[in-house]
Amino acid sequence: MSVLLDVVNLNTSFFTGTSQVRAVDGVSFSVRKGEIFGLVGESGSGKTVTSLSILRLVHPPGKVVKGEIFFEGRDLLQCTDKEMETVRGSRIGMIFQEPMTALNPVFRIGEQIGETIAIHNRDLSRQEVQEKTLMLLKQVGFEEPEKKCLQYPHQLSGGQRQRVLIAIAISCNPSLLIADEPTTALDVATESQIINLLEGLVASYDMSMIFITHNLNIMKKLGHRIGIMYAGRVLEENSVKHFFEKPLHPYSRGLLASVYDLAGSGERLTAIPGSVPKLSELPDGCKFHPRCPHVMPICKTMEPVMKEIGKDQWVRCYLYQS
Ligand code: SF4
Repeated sequence: MSVLLDVVNLNTSFFTGTSQVRAVDGVSFSVRKGEIFGLVGESGSGKTVTSLSILRLVHPPGKVVKGEIFFEGRDLLQCTDKEMETVRGSRIGMIFQEPMTALNPVFRIGEQIGETIAIHNRDLSRQEVQEKTLMLLKQVGFEEPEKKCLQYPHQLSGGQRQRVLIAIAISCNPSLLIADEPTTALDVATESQIINLLEGLVASYDMSMIFITHNLNIMKKLGHRIGIMYAGRVLEENSVKHFFEKPLHPYSRGLLASVYDLAGSGERLTAIPGSVPKLSELPDGCKFHPRCPHVMPICKTMEPVMKEIGKDQWVRCYLYQS
């Protein structure tokens, strides 16, 4: 599969007074055409800031300090604001965590979908925009799209609002969808429906998707490849299959052991000791070293670099560097 998105050494910081908080520090990963790439990590690991950096939606006091984001043959960080407006919405669709805040409460559902279609397809007639709106609502699972068009966001359930946002995100046939924890606010049954919907749409629209989550169970079902983030860094990039069979990084193993009974012993799941460090108070060396069961003297002074240790397998850890 060819590469659709290539993020290279991305650095995004937040500046307050004289201090600089590095929310994303040297992040690199790639997303191939047609694949679902999971960006997984705990809160504050840099997942959302990474996706906002890709879309050039980081606002002051935040700033993309350096890096390259190659997408469909150009570096998004070199695009003009006007060019980025076209990329957002028509080439890259975004689905946010909380659908209520992403929808405008004073406009009907049909108007909000139709407006996005019309902005990016100025040659379509009003009738064609209406037809496409109804078709999209049907595709995201509404059985009576004509009725849904007339409703306001507050008249819909959380799951229905998320379906509307998905319809808006795919309305211009993007090649990449970024879904930022799209099921966090939903109950388990609705979560499963939304996951199935997204999986089906990625295949039928021939899109790629970055799926941001802290939920490994979702990734196991949905993803092709996975990037594990911690303290603004990617610590492991792997295929989902290999990751769940044999995770490489000690942090990945800890995450899995906190969710699954890896040894099959039937004993209680083990939590990773300690807590995620504040970005403003990161330790020297490997940022995971205060919590790592394999820590060595070098881990405390020098940060390891990302290293490819097998086909499509990258890890940032001295256990793999001779
Ligand atoms: Fe543990 Fe050292 Fe690897 Fe960091 S570099 S994860 S401290 S073994």
